Amino acid sequence: MMTRRNAIKATALASAACAAAWPGRSQPAAPAVSAAPAATGPFTLPPLPYAYDALEPHLDQLTMQIHHDKHHQAYVTGLNKAVTGHPELEKLSVEELVRGLNGLPEGVRTVVQNMGGGHYNHWLFWQMMKPGGGGEPKGELAGAIDKKFNNFAGFTDEFTKAASGRFGSGWAWLVLGPGKELSIESSANQDSPLAAGKPVLLGIDVWEHAYYLKYQNRRPDYIAAFFKLINWDFVADRYNKLKV
Ligand code: MN
Repeated sequence: MMTRRNAIKATALASAACAAAWPGRSQPAAPAVSAAPAATGPFTLPPLPYAYDALEPHLDQLTMQIHHDKHHQAYVTGLNKAVTGHPELEKLSVEELVRGLNGLPEGVRTVVQNMGGGHYNHWLFWQMMKPGGGGEPKGELAGAIDKKFNNFAGFTDEFTKAASGRFGSGWAWLVLGPGKELSIESSANQDSPLAAGKPVLLGIDVWEHAYYLKYQNRRPDYIAAFFKLINWDFVADRYNKLKV
């Protein structure tokens, strides 16, 4: 006789078989580069990797508190709500959800794009900065940047243009293209280039919530401050792992 518990197990196994065949998962997987936040849903808000005031004076404590505890939390909560009741989605990591976005059922695609993208982008964004960051990258990433943008100043110019030129809410990115080449792009809202197969190495959040308390309408000042916070070791580590 099948107990209720066994019936639940059987259902879970059937869902696992379904998930394996789900088209979003058949795309080539970018290797994971660091411990993902809660591997699968329900997702939880990962703590900031430093204190709220650690990025002062470039990013103020109150902005960091609201941005992390309220905005990032809202994306996590929204993502959990979106995948609940979809067993084939509940077992995916946020990175798998974002990478496989175009293969998701139409009814959940937009909300996962916004909420899953929001969770994934912010999880990376916190790690892309650190107290005492900035300066220039070293190692192979430095060589790749020089090759693509002539020099670090060339990279800085192009990245700044992408970040200041993004109209409305969104992000600017340094991404790794299909041929493992570097490029700079920007995206609207919480869209991640990963959904188009391009893992991100570095990104800046240019939603007003990221800077308005301290910088108001002066987005260029915020972008300049961000360059003093970049955790180039983290970015170089992603590059070294993702380019192979
Ligand atoms: Mn944000």
